[in-house]
Amino acid sequence: MVGTSILEISESALKHNLSFLRKVIGPEVRFSSVVKGYAYGHGFAAFIPLAEKCGIDHFSVFSAEEAIKVARARTRDSDVMIVGSITEDEMVWAIENGISFYVFDRARLETAMQTAQKLKLPARIHLELETGMNRLGFEENDLEAVAAKLKEAKHDIMLEGVCTHYAGAESIGNYVRIQQQIERFKAMCETLERAGVTIPCRHTASSAATLTYPETHMEMVRVGIAQYGYWPSQETRMHYLLRNGGMNLQPRAEPLRRVLRWKSSVMSIKEVEPGEFVGYGTSYLTERKSRFAAIPVGYSAGFNRNLSNHGYVLISGRRAPVAGIINMNMMMADITHIPGVQPGDEVVLIGKQKRGEISVGAFSDLTRFLNYEVLARLSPDIKREVVK
Ligand SMILES: *Cc1c(COP(=O)(O)O)cnc(C)c1O
Repeated sequence: MVGTSILEISESALKHNLSFLRKVIGPEVRFSSVVKGYAYGHGFAAFIPLAEKCGIDHFSVFSAEEAIKVARARTRDSDVMIVGSITEDEMVWAIENGISFYVFDRARLETAMQTAQKLKLPARIHLELETGMNRLGFEENDLEAVAAKLKEAKHDIMLEGVCTHYAGAESIGNYVRIQQQIERFKAMCETLERAGVTIPCRHTASSAATLTYPETHMEMVRVGIAQYGYWPSQETRMHYLLRNGGMNLQPRAEPLRRVLRWKSSVMSIKEVEPGEFVGYGTSYLTERKSRFAAIPVGYSAGFNRNLSNHGYVLISGRRAPVAGIINMNMMMADITHIPGVQPGDEVVLIGKQKRGEISVGAFSDLTRFLNYEVLARLSPDIKREVVK
């Protein structure tokens, strides 16, 4: 193994997830693979070509900075769509390179039009509508002016889509709010159409809405977390399985499989007498003669410090509790109960090992971090390796 730890990215798991999601949305709906946050920690260089190999041809990113990296990692001419931040300079790059971007207010629409005119190239845009999240997007009373502007700019602006984002489709507590957003979105699309705008593609659904509210699929979905093998919430999983008769699933039939596995290896082993403190400070006291494995992974790699004395890793397929404080580059794990561990043995931080498994969900249970957040904190410096 090269480096202190490795992230394995599983091709078969990704294929499995994408074919499941394809069944959920049917053959007609376009699938945009959301790869913001360094492809949810999976890494652009590993994930983008792999996703393309598995049939993906549309990627969503948050910023123009990410779009540049994704465009570079592409192996085909997949579409790239920026759903968030783009500066005026970056807009020039986007238009020159055929990268589409969200437009959510009139100032940005004006900038897009003027930049496109200057470049004599069309800007490919997606109009974001404010339907109730109160974050970004055009309001109902903007629509007439937007329609007029689009007509005026019909040679400079290519309207690719109209979209919105739901305020928490992963929780049933937001059910009424989501229903209102769906209604408002449809009504606003009608307003635009009455004003003469042709809408080629409507897209509103993230993973949670895709799995829970089929009426939100429309012409395209934007799926992030589910393609990597995680449910947006336990509620989403329960809802999906109950409705689809799958509560007694065999593990082989599990609709989502984790794409990522994080492994390291034992650096050194130490025996410690009873009544000794281990690591910095006094937070861990041995109560018996103990054995510990030193593991070269710490919070700088994304193993959260809140897991000090709290989390666990897998060694020989068994749980080894984190002993003491997690350091920047290292942690200790108690292996007193695991016989035969040698330096160089594999340590799994996330994923399966023999009959053991540590899910990202287990991290979130222990630390209040969302699974999204655990993934986003995986250091870009960790080597990513695509496996079968
Ligand atoms: C992050 C994001 C998504 C994907 O969300 P998931 O819950 O990961 O599927 C979709 N649309 C927008 C605008 C997003 O920012």
